[in-house]
Amino acid sequence: MRFLSYDDLEELQMEVGTPCFVYDEATLRANARAVLDFPHAFGLFPRYAMKAAPTAAVLRIFNEEGLGIDASSVPEVERAIRAGFGTESISLSTQELADDFIYWAQDGIRINLCSLNQIHKFGKWGKSRRVGLRFNPGKGSGGNNRTNVGGPASSFGIWKDDLEHAISLCQEYKLVVERIHTHIGSGADPEVWKTVASMTLNLARSFPSVETINLGGGYKVARMPDEKATDLQEVGAPVKELFKQFAEETGRKLKLEIEPGTFLLAHACSLVTRVQDINSTGKEGYRFLKLDSGMTEILRPSLYGAQHPIHLVCEPGQQKFRELIDQVVVGHCCESGDLLTPAPGDPEALATRNLPRGEIGDFCVIESAGAYCSSMAAKNYNSFPEAAEVLRKEDGRLALIRKRQTFDQIIENEVVP
Ligand SMILES: *Cc1c(COP(=O)(O)O)cnc(C)c1O
Repeated sequence: MRFLSYDDLEELQMEVGTPCFVYDEATLRANARAVLDFPHAFGLFPRYAMKAAPTAAVLRIFNEEGLGIDASSVPEVERAIRAGFGTESISLSTQELADDFIYWAQDGIRINLCSLNQIHKFGKWGKSRRVGLRFNPGKGSGGNNRTNVGGPASSFGIWKDDLEHAISLCQEYKLVVERIHTHIGSGADPEVWKTVASMTLNLARSFPSVETINLGGGYKVARMPDEKATDLQEVGAPVKELFKQFAEETGRKLKLEIEPGTFLLAHACSLVTRVQDINSTGKEGYRFLKLDSGMTEILRPSLYGAQHPIHLVCEPGQQKFRELIDQVVVGHCCESGDLLTPAPGDPEALATRNLPRGEIGDFCVIESAGAYCSSMAAKNYNSFPEAAEVLRKEDGRLALIRKRQTFDQIIENEVVP
Protein backbone atom coordinates (compact mmCIF):
# COMPACT_ATOMS: atom_id res chain seq x y z
CA MET A 1 0.00 0.00 0.00
CA ARG A 2 1.14 3.52 -0.71
CA PHE A 3 1.14 5.03 2.77
CA LEU A 4 -1.10 2.96 5.05
CA SER A 5 0.01 0.12 7.32
CA TYR A 6 -2.12 -2.73 8.62
CA ASP A 7 -2.08 -1.04 12.04
CA ASP A 8 -3.45 2.13 10.43
CA LEU A 9 -6.31 0.12 8.93
CA GLU A 10 -7.21 -1.39 12.30
CA GLU A 11 -7.09 2.01 13.95
CA LEU A 12 -9.28 3.50 11.22
CA GLN A 13 -11.80 0.72 11.57
CA MET A 14 -12.02 1.25 15.32
CA GLU A 15 -11.95 5.04 15.40
CA VAL A 16 -13.93 6.13 12.33
CA GLY A 17 -15.26 2.98 10.66
CA THR A 18 -15.26 2.07 6.99
CA PRO A 19 -15.61 3.26 4.33
CA CYS A 20 -13.37 6.27 4.86
CA PHE A 21 -11.00 8.36 2.77
CA VAL A 22 -7.48 8.87 4.08
CA TYR A 23 -5.40 11.76 2.72
CA ASP A 24 -1.64 11.75 3.20
CA GLU A 25 -0.25 15.12 4.26
CA ALA A 26 3.33 14.33 3.19
CA THR A 27 2.19 13.44 -0.36
CA LEU A 28 -0.03 16.53 -0.60
CA ARG A 29 2.88 18.79 0.40
CA ALA A 30 5.38 17.02 -1.87
CA ASN A 31 2.99 17.34 -4.83
CA ALA A 32 2.41 21.03 -4.08
CA ARG A 33 6.19 21.59 -4.14
CA ALA A 34 6.54 19.75 -7.45
CA VAL A 35 3.87 22.03 -8.91
CA LEU A 36 5.56 25.17 -7.53
CA ASP A 37 8.70 23.95 -9.31
CA PHE A 38 7.03 23.93 -12.77
CA PRO A 39 9.38 25.51 -15.35
CA HIS A 40 8.55 29.11 -16.21
CA ALA A 41 10.20 32.10 -17.83
CA PHE A 42 8.69 35.19 -16.18
CA GLY A 43 6.81 34.07 -13.06
CA LEU A 44 4.47 31.28 -12.06
CA PHE A 45 1.33 31.08 -9.97
CA PRO A 46 -0.12 27.58 -9.62
CA ARG A 47 -3.73 27.23 -8.55
CA TYR A 48 -5.28 24.12 -7.04
CA ALA A 49 -8.36 23.03 -9.03
CA MET A 50 -10.37 22.46 -5.87
CA LYS A 51 -13.18 20.47 -7.47
CA ALA A 52 -10.81 17.47 -7.26
CA ALA A 53 -11.23 17.40 -3.45
CA PRO A 54 -12.61 20.47 -1.68
CA THR A 55 -12.34 19.51 2.02
CA ALA A 56 -11.10 22.41 4.16
CA ALA A 57 -8.15 20.52 5.67
CA VAL A 58 -6.80 19.81 2.16
CA LEU A 59 -7.34 23.43 1.06
CA ARG A 60 -5.51 24.71 4.15
CA ILE A 61 -2.44 22.60 3.39
CA PHE A 62 -2.25 24.00 -0.15
CA ASN A 63 -2.78 27.53 1.15
CA GLU A 64 0.19 27.06 3.49
CA GLU A 65 2.28 25.80 0.58
CA GLY A 66 1.51 28.94 -1.41
CA LEU A 67 -0.90 27.68 -4.07
CA GLY A 68 -3.88 29.72 -5.24
CA ILE A 69 -7.33 28.41 -6.09
CA ASP A 70 -9.13 27.59 -9.31
CA ALA A 71 -12.83 27.44 -8.44
CA SER A 72 -15.38 25.87 -10.80
CA SER A 73 -18.49 27.37 -9.28
CA VAL A 74 -19.56 30.22 -7.06
CA PRO A 75 -20.16 27.89 -4.06
CA GLU A 76 -16.56 26.70 -4.47
CA VAL A 77 -15.41 30.33 -4.20
CA GLU A 78 -17.20 30.59 -0.88
CA ARG A 79 -15.75 27.29 0.29
CA ALA A 80 -12.20 28.46 -0.47
CA ILE A 81 -12.79 31.71 1.42
CA ARG A 82 -14.15 29.82 4.44
CA ALA A 83 -11.04 27.60 4.37
CA GLY A 84 -8.85 30.71 4.67
CA PHE A 85 -7.93 31.75 1.13
CA GLY A 86 -7.80 35.48 0.46
CA THR A 87 -9.95 36.84 -2.37
CA GLU A 88 -6.82 37.83 -4.33
CA SER A 89 -5.70 34.19 -4.62
CA ILE A 90 -8.94 32.79 -6.07
CA SER A 91 -9.96 32.60 -9.70
CA LEU A 92 -13.29 31.36 -11.07
CA SER A 93 -13.80 29.49 -14.35
CA THR A 94 -17.38 28.30 -14.29
CA GLN A 95 -20.00 26.75 -16.52
CA GLU A 96 -22.70 28.57 -14.57
CA LEU A 97 -22.03 32.21 -13.82
CA ALA A 98 -24.43 32.62 -10.92
CA ASP A 99 -25.86 36.07 -10.16
CA ASP A 100 -24.33 36.24 -6.70
CA PHE A 101 -20.84 36.35 -8.21
CA ILE A 102 -21.47 40.08 -8.65
CA TYR A 103 -20.49 40.52 -4.97
CA TRP A 104 -17.37 38.40 -5.24
CA ALA A 105 -16.27 40.32 -8.35
CA GLN A 106 -16.49 43.46 -6.25
CA ASP A 107 -14.26 41.80 -3.64
CA GLY A 108 -11.54 41.11 -6.18
CA ILE A 109 -12.06 37.45 -7.06
CA ARG A 110 -10.82 36.96 -10.61
CA ILE A 111 -12.74 35.35 -13.38
CA ASN A 112 -12.14 33.66 -16.70
CA LEU A 113 -15.23 34.28 -18.79
CA CYS A 114 -16.06 31.01 -20.52
CA SER A 115 -18.64 31.97 -23.17
CA LEU A 116 -19.84 34.98 -25.17
CA ASN A 117 -22.92 35.15 -22.95
CA GLN A 118 -20.72 35.30 -19.86
CA ILE A 119 -18.96 38.35 -21.38
CA HIS A 120 -22.37 40.02 -21.81
CA LYS A 121 -23.47 39.16 -18.30
CA PHE A 122 -20.25 40.22 -16.59
CA GLY A 123 -19.95 43.34 -18.75
CA LYS A 124 -23.45 44.48 -17.82
CA TRP A 125 -22.70 44.10 -14.10
CA GLY A 126 -19.90 46.64 -14.47
CA LYS A 127 -18.35 45.60 -11.14
CA SER A 128 -14.88 44.90 -12.40
CA ARG A 129 -13.01 45.85 -15.57
CA ARG A 130 -10.27 43.24 -15.56
CA VAL A 131 -11.13 39.78 -16.84
CA GLY A 132 -9.66 36.61 -18.24
CA LEU A 133 -11.12 34.78 -21.23
CA ARG A 134 -11.26 31.02 -21.52
CA PHE A 135 -10.90 29.76 -25.08
CA ASN A 136 -11.46 26.38 -26.63
CA PRO A 137 -8.38 26.33 -28.91
CA GLY A 138 -9.86 23.60 -31.11
CA LYS A 139 -7.82 20.70 -29.81
CA GLY A 140 -8.26 18.31 -26.92
CA SER A 141 -6.28 15.51 -25.40
CA GLY A 142 -8.55 13.91 -22.82
CA GLY A 143 -8.58 10.13 -22.43
CA ASN A 144 -12.16 9.72 -23.70
CA ASN A 145 -15.23 11.77 -24.56
CA ARG A 146 -15.95 12.25 -20.87
CA THR A 147 -12.58 13.71 -19.93
CA ASN A 148 -11.87 15.58 -23.15
CA VAL A 149 -12.45 19.30 -22.60
CA GLY A 150 -11.15 20.76 -25.86
CA GLY A 151 -12.08 20.50 -29.54
CA PRO A 152 -15.40 20.85 -31.39
CA ALA A 153 -17.16 18.27 -29.18
CA SER A 154 -16.41 20.20 -26.00
CA SER A 155 -18.73 22.91 -24.63
CA PHE A 156 -16.03 24.57 -22.51
CA GLY A 157 -14.69 27.99 -23.38
CA ILE A 158 -15.14 30.48 -26.21
CA TRP A 159 -14.69 28.70 -29.55
CA LYS A 160 -11.49 29.79 -31.31
CA ASP A 161 -13.37 31.17 -34.34
CA ASP A 162 -15.36 33.53 -32.10
CA LEU A 163 -12.19 35.42 -31.20
CA GLU A 164 -13.14 38.61 -33.08
CA HIS A 165 -16.61 38.56 -31.60
CA ALA A 166 -15.14 38.21 -28.08
CA ILE A 167 -12.77 41.13 -28.72
CA SER A 168 -15.55 43.43 -29.85
CA LEU A 169 -17.77 42.47 -26.91
CA CYS A 170 -14.96 43.26 -24.47
CA GLN A 171 -14.47 46.64 -26.17
CA GLU A 172 -18.20 47.34 -25.99
CA TYR A 173 -18.22 46.73 -22.21
CA LYS A 174 -14.77 48.34 -21.66
CA LEU A 175 -13.38 45.11 -20.24
CA VAL A 176 -9.60 44.82 -20.05
CA VAL A 177 -8.50 41.28 -20.90
CA GLU A 178 -5.56 40.50 -18.61
CA ARG A 179 -5.45 36.75 -18.98
CA ILE A 180 -6.02 34.03 -21.57
CA HIS A 181 -7.04 30.63 -20.30
CA THR A 182 -7.18 27.21 -21.91
CA HIS A 183 -7.79 23.83 -20.30
CA ILE A 184 -8.04 20.98 -22.74
CA GLY A 185 -8.02 17.79 -20.69
CA SER A 186 -5.78 15.15 -19.23
CA GLY A 187 -2.57 14.37 -20.99
CA ALA A 188 1.04 13.41 -20.33
CA ASP A 189 2.46 14.12 -23.80
CA PRO A 190 4.89 17.09 -23.90
CA GLU A 191 4.09 17.61 -27.62
CA VAL A 192 0.43 18.23 -26.82
CA TRP A 193 1.31 20.72 -24.09
CA LYS A 194 3.66 22.50 -26.46
CA THR A 195 0.98 22.75 -29.14
CA VAL A 196 -1.61 24.07 -26.71
CA ALA A 197 0.81 26.55 -25.14
CA SER A 198 1.65 27.93 -28.57
CA MET A 199 -2.05 28.14 -29.56
CA THR A 200 -2.73 30.00 -26.31
CA LEU A 201 0.18 32.38 -26.81
CA ASN A 202 -1.13 33.09 -30.30
CA LEU A 203 -4.46 34.10 -28.81
CA ALA A 204 -2.57 36.51 -26.53
CA ARG A 205 -1.27 38.34 -29.66
CA SER A 206 -4.80 39.63 -30.20
CA PHE A 207 -4.92 41.12 -26.69
CA PRO A 208 -2.12 43.63 -25.96
CA SER A 209 -3.40 43.97 -22.37
CA VAL A 210 -2.86 40.28 -21.54
CA GLU A 211 -0.22 39.72 -18.85
CA THR A 212 -0.88 36.11 -17.90
CA ILE A 213 -1.40 32.82 -19.69
CA ASN A 214 -3.27 30.13 -17.80
CA LEU A 215 -2.83 26.62 -19.22
CA GLY A 216 -5.36 24.92 -16.94
CA GLY A 217 -4.88 21.44 -15.53
CA GLY A 218 -4.90 17.97 -16.99
CA TYR A 219 -1.51 16.66 -15.86
CA LYS A 220 -2.26 12.97 -16.03
CA VAL A 221 -1.01 10.61 -13.33
CA ALA A 222 -0.31 6.88 -13.60
CA ARG A 223 -2.70 5.04 -11.33
CA MET A 224 -1.92 1.65 -12.88
CA PRO A 225 1.54 0.30 -13.84
CA ASP A 226 0.82 0.49 -17.59
CA GLU A 227 -0.20 4.17 -17.52
CA LYS A 228 2.16 7.02 -18.32
CA ALA A 229 2.51 9.80 -15.75
CA THR A 230 3.21 13.43 -16.58
CA ASP A 231 6.72 14.64 -15.83
CA LEU A 232 6.15 18.32 -15.00
CA GLN A 233 9.74 19.24 -15.81
CA GLU A 234 9.48 17.50 -19.17
CA VAL A 235 6.19 19.12 -20.24
CA GLY A 236 7.17 22.49 -18.75
CA ALA A 237 10.58 22.95 -20.39
CA PRO A 238 9.35 23.53 -23.98
CA VAL A 239 6.52 25.71 -22.67
CA LYS A 240 9.08 27.91 -20.93
CA GLU A 241 11.00 28.22 -24.22
CA LEU A 242 7.84 29.34 -26.03
CA PHE A 243 7.29 32.10 -23.45
CA LYS A 244 10.88 33.27 -23.99
CA GLN A 245 10.48 33.29 -27.77
CA PHE A 246 7.21 35.19 -27.41
CA ALA A 247 9.01 37.80 -25.28
CA GLU A 248 11.81 38.17 -27.84
CA GLU A 249 9.29 38.67 -30.60
CA THR A 250 6.84 40.96 -28.85
CA GLY A 251 8.67 42.41 -25.85
CA ARG A 252 5.92 41.04 -23.63
CA LYS A 253 7.00 38.94 -20.63
CA LEU A 254 3.95 36.89 -19.80
CA LYS A 255 3.37 35.18 -16.48
CA LEU A 256 2.24 31.58 -16.32
CA GLU A 257 -0.56 30.03 -14.33
CA ILE A 258 -1.34 26.32 -14.15
CA GLU A 259 -4.27 24.65 -12.41
CA PRO A 260 -3.65 21.02 -11.53
CA GLY A 261 -6.29 19.03 -9.66
CA THR A 262 -5.55 15.38 -10.42
CA PHE A 263 -1.78 15.81 -10.19
CA LEU A 264 -1.97 17.24 -6.67
CA LEU A 265 -4.55 14.84 -5.28
CA ALA A 266 -4.76 11.52 -7.08
CA HIS A 267 -2.06 9.56 -5.26
CA ALA A 268 -2.50 11.45 -1.99
CA CYS A 269 -5.61 9.58 -0.85
CA SER A 270 -6.78 6.01 -0.39
CA LEU A 271 -10.30 4.78 0.16
CA VAL A 272 -10.42 2.20 2.98
CA THR A 273 -13.29 -0.28 2.71
CA ARG A 274 -14.10 -3.78 3.92
CA VAL A 275 -15.46 -6.83 2.16
CA GLN A 276 -18.96 -7.29 3.60
CA ASP A 277 -20.24 -10.12 1.41
CA ILE A 278 -19.09 -12.60 -1.21
CA ASN A 279 -21.26 -13.99 -3.97
CA SER A 280 -20.59 -16.30 -6.86
CA THR A 281 -22.20 -17.15 -10.19
CA GLY A 282 -20.63 -20.59 -10.37
CA LYS A 283 -18.17 -22.17 -12.76
CA GLU A 284 -19.10 -20.14 -15.84
CA GLY A 285 -19.41 -16.98 -13.77
CA TYR A 286 -17.43 -14.93 -11.31
CA ARG A 287 -16.54 -14.62 -7.66
CA PHE A 288 -17.78 -11.20 -6.48
CA LEU A 289 -16.26 -9.34 -3.54
CA LYS A 290 -18.89 -6.92 -2.22
CA LEU A 291 -17.49 -3.89 -0.44
CA ASP A 292 -19.17 -1.69 2.15
CA SER A 293 -18.49 1.13 -0.35
CA GLY A 294 -18.85 1.68 -4.08
CA MET A 295 -20.26 4.39 -6.33
CA THR A 296 -21.35 6.21 -3.17
CA GLU A 297 -17.63 7.02 -2.68
CA ILE A 298 -15.97 6.33 -6.02
CA LEU A 299 -17.78 6.77 -9.31
CA ARG A 300 -14.86 7.00 -11.72
CA PRO A 301 -14.78 3.26 -12.58
CA SER A 302 -18.54 3.23 -13.32
CA LEU A 303 -18.37 6.50 -15.22
CA TYR A 304 -15.19 6.16 -17.29
CA GLY A 305 -14.04 2.57 -16.83
CA ALA A 306 -11.23 4.14 -14.78
CA GLN A 307 -8.76 1.76 -13.16
CA HIS A 308 -7.62 2.12 -9.56
CA PRO A 309 -5.12 -0.08 -7.71
CA ILE A 310 -6.99 -2.41 -5.35
CA HIS A 311 -5.30 -4.04 -2.35
CA LEU A 312 -7.03 -6.86 -0.55
CA VAL A 313 -5.58 -6.87 2.95
CA CYS A 314 -6.16 -9.60 5.52
CA GLU A 315 -4.48 -10.11 8.88
CA PRO A 316 -0.72 -10.24 8.27
CA GLY A 317 -0.41 -13.84 9.49
CA GLN A 318 -3.10 -15.03 7.08
CA GLN A 319 -1.74 -13.50 3.89
CA LYS A 320 0.33 -16.55 2.93
CA PHE A 321 -2.70 -18.89 3.01
CA ARG A 322 -4.60 -16.83 0.44
CA GLU A 323 -4.13 -17.95 -3.16
CA LEU A 324 -4.28 -15.36 -5.93
CA ILE A 325 -7.45 -15.75 -7.97
CA ASP A 326 -9.47 -13.68 -10.45
CA GLN A 327 -12.30 -11.86 -8.72
CA VAL A 328 -14.73 -9.07 -9.51
CA VAL A 329 -14.94 -6.22 -7.01
CA VAL A 330 -18.36 -4.58 -6.72
CA GLY A 331 -19.96 -1.89 -4.60
CA HIS A 332 -22.87 -2.01 -2.17
CA CYS A 333 -25.52 -0.26 -4.27
CA CYS A 334 -28.45 -2.00 -5.94
CA GLU A 335 -27.12 -1.07 -9.35
CA SER A 336 -25.23 -3.40 -11.66
CA GLY A 337 -23.04 -0.49 -12.77
CA ASP A 338 -21.63 -0.22 -9.24
CA LEU A 339 -18.41 -1.89 -10.25
CA LEU A 340 -14.81 -1.29 -9.10
CA THR A 341 -13.26 -3.54 -11.76
CA PRO A 342 -14.70 -2.51 -15.13
CA ALA A 343 -12.80 -3.29 -18.32
CA PRO A 344 -10.23 -0.51 -18.83
CA GLY A 345 -11.91 2.47 -20.48
CA ASP A 346 -15.20 0.58 -20.87
CA PRO A 347 -17.60 1.00 -17.95
CA GLU A 348 -20.15 -1.23 -19.74
CA ALA A 349 -17.96 -4.33 -19.48
CA LEU A 350 -16.89 -6.21 -16.39
CA ALA A 351 -13.35 -7.43 -15.80
CA THR A 352 -11.63 -9.44 -13.10
CA ARG A 353 -8.68 -8.55 -10.89
CA ASN A 354 -6.12 -11.08 -9.74
CA LEU A 355 -6.21 -10.63 -5.96
CA PRO A 356 -5.73 -12.77 -2.85
CA ARG A 357 -8.89 -14.83 -2.28
CA GLY A 358 -11.05 -12.37 -0.34
CA GLU A 359 -13.08 -13.22 2.72
CA ILE A 360 -15.75 -11.30 4.59
CA GLY A 361 -14.11 -8.83 6.97
CA ASP A 362 -10.96 -8.29 4.90
CA PHE A 363 -9.90 -4.74 4.22
CA CYS A 364 -9.99 -3.60 0.64
CA VAL A 365 -7.99 -0.44 -0.03
CA ILE A 366 -8.68 1.47 -3.25
CA GLU A 367 -5.68 3.62 -4.03
CA SER A 368 -5.09 6.82 -5.97
CA ALA A 369 -8.57 7.88 -4.90
CA GLY A 370 -7.83 11.52 -4.08
CA ALA A 371 -9.07 13.27 -7.20
CA TYR A 372 -12.74 13.30 -8.22
CA CYS A 373 -13.70 10.48 -5.85
CA SER A 374 -14.98 11.92 -2.59
CA SER A 375 -16.01 15.09 -4.46
CA MET A 376 -17.74 13.37 -7.39
CA ALA A 377 -19.51 10.30 -6.01
CA ALA A 378 -23.16 9.20 -6.07
CA LYS A 379 -23.59 10.54 -2.56
CA ASN A 380 -26.55 9.22 -0.57
CA TYR A 381 -27.67 6.79 -3.27
CA ASN A 382 -29.41 3.91 -1.50
CA SER A 383 -29.44 6.36 1.46
CA PHE A 384 -25.91 5.45 2.47
CA PRO A 385 -24.27 8.29 4.44
CA GLU A 386 -21.40 10.40 3.08
CA ALA A 387 -18.17 8.71 4.25
CA ALA A 388 -15.76 10.14 6.80
CA GLU A 389 -12.42 11.65 5.77
CA VAL A 390 -9.16 11.38 7.67
CA LEU A 391 -5.78 13.08 7.30
CA ARG A 392 -2.65 11.08 7.91
CA LYS A 393 -0.40 13.75 9.39
CA GLU A 394 3.28 13.96 8.60
CA ASP A 395 4.08 12.37 11.97
CA GLY A 396 1.84 9.40 11.11
CA ARG A 397 -1.09 10.33 13.36
CA LEU A 398 -4.58 9.90 11.90
CA ALA A 399 -6.81 12.95 12.32
CA LEU A 400 -10.51 13.15 11.44
CA ILE A 401 -11.16 15.96 8.92
CA ARG A 402 -14.77 15.19 7.98
CA LYS A 403 -17.23 13.20 10.06
CA ARG A 404 -19.44 10.51 8.58
CA GLN A 405 -22.84 11.99 7.76
CA THR A 406 -25.53 11.09 10.29
CA PHE A 407 -28.83 9.54 9.32
CA ASP A 408 -30.66 12.72 10.35
CA GLN A 409 -28.46 14.76 8.01
CA ILE A 410 -29.48 12.57 5.07
CA ILE A 411 -33.16 13.42 5.51
CA GLU A 412 -32.95 16.81 7.21
CA ASN A 413 -34.22 18.85 4.25
CA GLU A 414 -37.27 16.71 3.59
CA VAL A 415 -40.64 18.29 4.21
CA VAL A 416 -43.90 16.35 4.53
CA PRO A 417 -46.63 18.60 3.18
C1 LIG B 1 -11.09 20.54 -13.61
C2 LIG B 1 -10.27 21.68 -14.03
C3 LIG B 1 -8.89 21.71 -13.78
C4 LIG B 1 -8.15 20.54 -13.18
O1 LIG B 1 -8.08 19.45 -14.06
P1 LIG B 1 -7.19 18.17 -13.67
O2 LIG B 1 -7.37 17.27 -14.84
O3 LIG B 1 -7.78 17.62 -12.42
O4 LIG B 1 -5.81 18.63 -13.48
C5 LIG B 1 -8.19 22.85 -14.12
N1 LIG B 1 -8.80 23.90 -14.71
C6 LIG B 1 -10.12 23.91 -14.98
C7 LIG B 1 -10.73 25.10 -15.60
C8 LIG B 1 -10.89 22.80 -14.66
O5 LIG B 1 -12.19 22.81 -14.95
